[in-house]
Amino acid sequence: MILKTNSQALEKQNKTIPLGVYPYLVLIKDISSFMQRNNLAVPSAPTKEVGQPIVCERCLKAHSLKRAQELSLPRAIVNMIENRFDCPVGHDGYYIDEDELVKM
Ligand SMILES: [Zn+2]
Repeated sequence: MILKTNSQALEKQNKTIPLGVYPYLVLIKDISSFMQRNNLAVPSAPTKEVGQPIVCERCLKAHSLKRAQELSLPRAIVNMIENRFDCPVGHDGYYIDEDELVKM
């Protein structure tokens, strides 16, 4: 019996994902991470259940657009993000990520 290490498992996974898909996966993971670290929702007592993250849509839109551009994603993806959020982008050229004020 051969035990696979994490790196072997990743190698196998990498072979099945076309290279062009990586930027999209990075964007999805990055958006998810942004929502988790900027979640405004407070777990409800007494269950302490955490529901869907609640984030400022203007900041999420700004972060998503910035990351899409950094990842050189196609214009269609940028348009999709712009259309997904019916709000202005960020706040006067900035958005908030945790405690940091980020220039767009
Ligand atoms: Zn905001």
